[in-house]
Amino acid sequence: MKISIQPLKESDLKPLETDTKKLGFCKFFSDRMFTMHYSETDNWHNPEIKKLGSLDLEPSSMVLHYGQEIFEGLKAFRTSKGEINLFRPEMNAKRFNRSAARLCMPSLPEYDFLESIEKLIKIEERWIPNSKGASLYIRPFMIATDTILGVRASSNYIYCVILSPVGPYYQEGFNPVSLYVTDEFCRAAKGGMGEAKTGGNYAASLLAGRVAREKGCAQVLWLDPAHRKYVEEVGAMNIFFVFGDSLVTPKLNGSILAGITRDSVLTLAKTLNLKAEEREISIDEVIGGITTGSITEIFGSGTAASISPVGNLKYQEKDYIVNNRKVGPVSQKIYDFLTGVQYGEKEDPFKWIRKIEF
Ligand SMILES: *Cc1c(COP(=O)(O)O)cnc(C)c1O
Repeated sequence: MKISIQPLKESDLKPLETDTKKLGFCKFFSDRMFTMHYSETDNWHNPEIKKLGSLDLEPSSMVLHYGQEIFEGLKAFRTSKGEINLFRPEMNAKRFNRSAARLCMPSLPEYDFLESIEKLIKIEERWIPNSKGASLYIRPFMIATDTILGVRASSNYIYCVILSPVGPYYQEGFNPVSLYVTDEFCRAAKGGMGEAKTGGNYAASLLAGRVAREKGCAQVLWLDPAHRKYVEEVGAMNIFFVFGDSLVTPKLNGSILAGITRDSVLTLAKTLNLKAEEREISIDEVIGGITTGSITEIFGSGTAASISPVGNLKYQEKDYIVNNRKVGPVSQKIYDFLTGVQYGEKEDPFKWIRKIEF
């Protein structure tokens, strides 16, 4: 790609928030963004890195009406040696194109996806926090820009990447979350868009999320749409149940998003002497397992928090406390492995790290 890079003036640069505790999650954005346009005649063209600012959108732009949008989420980590690590970004590039195919959007060559991220991060290097736990969140996305209100796939798109420095997810150490198991709402159904990383799935989840918070829970645990019987995922995280030294996660079924952290946990299990199984697991089995103690831990997996221990499930107005709301050894071990690899403190046996070359 021949990226045009707009020079910024000193006065265009924002002050850095150096107190990583104040960063939170995606509240601040770096100085620049990457944009590239697509049209049927010119394919992908005009790649640019320029000052972060508004996108030029007509009110009739298709994305604003019919939600033809996809995105990705990944992170860059600064190691203690000062190297910059990406974690399995090739997987994000592939998933971006699977999402694109589902929403009738053009595919983006994987090397262009990777280059857009790497070039932008190199220029925005100062925005990568340098304390362990903090990182630079990378948000690539694509939107439909035809200015027509007929319902069909757009012929024009914008691909854009923005960057946000994020603080440590666990400010005061791990804090196991409560999940609200809804049997009222569902997130996605097989044949729908559940496997795609698209804004529409998140819009569908907001109301249940609000109900969850009213009930004192952080997030929703979704059940299958047909029977409200089998566990699916958490909506921005996949879910794992720990039975002693065995991990169980719902198998991909057409409505669950194939998380990269999920795949990493399944892959690293053997290394940590854990068994791992992808299968259907019903909410009754889960509740039974918590009650009898055969389920020893539950955790979510996703880019934002890496591993997120679950301390409580609220189902049909009852609370089911997991492992005394404490972080269990298995969640801790997996978290330590993943973050150790990401921050370059541990060997990387699966070649997950892609270093940014300066
Ligand atoms: C992004 C996402 C996840 C987690 O995927 P990772 O690649 O591990 O970050 C899980 N569920 C949904 C619905 C998601 O959008």
